[in-house]
Amino acid sequence: MAKKKGEEFQQEKEIFLEHIQNAGLRRTSQRDLILEIFLKTEEHLTSEDLYWLVQKKDPGVGQTTVYRTLKLLTEAGLAREVRFGDGKTYYEHHYNHEHHDHMICTECGLVIEFFSAEIEELQDKMAEKFGFTPTHHSLRMWGVCEACGARKRELQSAPSGAQPRVRVKSGVAD
Ligand SMILES: [Zn+2]
Ligand SMILES: [Zn+2]
Ligand SMILES: [Zn+2]
Repeated sequence: MAKKKGEEFQQEKEIFLEHIQNAGLRRTSQRDLILEIFLKTEEHLTSEDLYWLVQKKDPGVGQTTVYRTLKLLTEAGLAREVRFGDGKTYYEHHYNHEHHDHMICTECGLVIEFFSAEIEELQDKMAEKFGFTPTHHSLRMWGVCEACGARKRELQSAPSGAQPRVRVKSGVAD
């Protein structure tokens, strides 16, 4: 069945509402707006990133409200936290999203999402071997992306003119 207009993210909205009610909180237009913008943004966002996006629509929304709402979204299973080693906490869509892992470029910050059934299977086997029951996991690889790798190689193979300029005095003057 095709979705009717205005029913976008209906399931997500219901899940959020239920979570809010269970937590004894009220539904507010600010929380609704934050949820809406979060769901529409298919990216890895920090709380601050989301705050700036929300600001454009409603400057009255405070940073703390955005942060707390993101926490609620995470508790409700709509968002998940991811860390890429730069000290920040990012959030991404969790509900109805296929599991994936990340490769992070330490040069430019590019984040590549990937999924490998083989790696997933190997992880499960490894856990089984240790009698370990995994509840969730996050596999991250840090390194250098294709573009940054090419840039580095180009710098290394630059002609002799790009070598460190150390001039050796001939020592005959004076
Ligand atoms: Zn995985
Ligand atoms: Zn890069
Ligand atoms: Zn991701």
